[in-house]
Amino acid sequence: MSAFAATSRNFLRAGRLLGLNSTLEKSLLIPFREIKVECTIPKDDGSIVSFIGFRVQHDNARGPMKGGIRYHPQVDPDEVNALAQLMTWKTAVVDIPYGGAKGGINCSPSELSNSELERLTRVFTQKIHESIGIHTDIPAPDMGTNAQTMAWILDEYSKFHGHSPAIVTGKPIDLGGSLGREAATGRGVVFATEALLAEYGKSISGQTFVIQGYGNVGSWTAELIHKEGGKIIAISDVTGAIRNSDGIDILALSKHRAEGGNLKDFNGADTMDPNELLMHECDVLIPCALGGVLTRENAANVKAKYIIEAANHPIDPEADEILSKKGVIILPDIYANAGGVTVSYFEWVQNIQGYMWDEEKVNLKLQKYMTNAFKNIKAMCKTYDCNLRMGAFTLGVNRVARATVMRGWEA
Ligand code: GLU
Repeated sequence: MSAFAATSRNFLRAGRLLGLNSTLEKSLLIPFREIKVECTIPKDDGSIVSFIGFRVQHDNARGPMKGGIRYHPQVDPDEVNALAQLMTWKTAVVDIPYGGAKGGINCSPSELSNSELERLTRVFTQKIHESIGIHTDIPAPDMGTNAQTMAWILDEYSKFHGHSPAIVTGKPIDLGGSLGREAATGRGVVFATEALLAEYGKSISGQTFVIQGYGNVGSWTAELIHKEGGKIIAISDVTGAIRNSDGIDILALSKHRAEGGNLKDFNGADTMDPNELLMHECDVLIPCALGGVLTRENAANVKAKYIIEAANHPIDPEADEILSKKGVIILPDIYANAGGVTVSYFEWVQNIQGYMWDEEKVNLKLQKYMTNAFKNIKAMCKTYDCNLRMGAFTLGVNRVARATVMRGWEA
């Protein structure tokens, strides 16, 4: 099943629970605008190369559209459409005044030099600058992009529109970025995990964790769980996976990586088959990498009691059913990884106010948004007698549907 079909299936299920009529359902499903652009740049060796860039703006009923820009070889219209739709429900679940969007360029960023990446980002910005804006659509980092990418977008956009720090979030602090934004998705994952475990009378310390992915989300999640006393017994990145049943010293691993070391060569753990990672015995499994990693092929062998979807759509619908039947508790992506976009909202507010918050305020507000959203999801689970995924979808979809209806249908 395609990523868009899987996401739409969850939306339609929520629509049925909410009793949405088919006209509204159709209108909420169709993206507001899909942009596809050619990005041609000279490589460092003088040769010319072309890439395809996308920006899908899914819905703006609740506010400007918001979402990351991904540089990855798997970026295609299906994936970007699915991710844009997820952003619409995600911003509504945490109740920040945004709609949803997502963008990306089909490329392998690790095969491009820094100056090639800069040229590519600037060309992409030139192609989409008329369609984005601080009250229209605000990009942010995602897989394969970072604060530096946002700085290039900000600089290029400002050539056309004047200095506009609020045009992107997740930018460097020196250019108006927010304290706490870099760690925000991981921190939000940890707040979400705490809220879920508390329901079962448990806390992070005392649980064993397996984490897939060691990028921005995986590394911050691992570090914060480690600090809270959680025992991380296996972790992976694109190069491989490691395990240690006594718990991996994440601070030592982070130092090893910062010094240029490979995850696989870390001497505080044994290497393991990355294909076994998701099936490893543990209390809590946290996929922090790509979508669609749990499928009908491997779901039955999962041993975790809880899965926290720090990645977007890591579980396909067939796997979702298998896992639910096994009694695995799943905390869905549109809530679990919403900490990033929540602090993006705080960054945008600070830029518009021209006033910088301290990190303590950012983190406290993030905790409040994540805790409130969890309470609201639980209330929906009770109302509709459904699982956490449907609780989150009904919460998000209902807010967007209400805003859409209140705006009226007159053309
Ligand atoms: N890329 C992140 C996400 O998928 C953050 C988006 C944002 O901050 O706008 O939620």
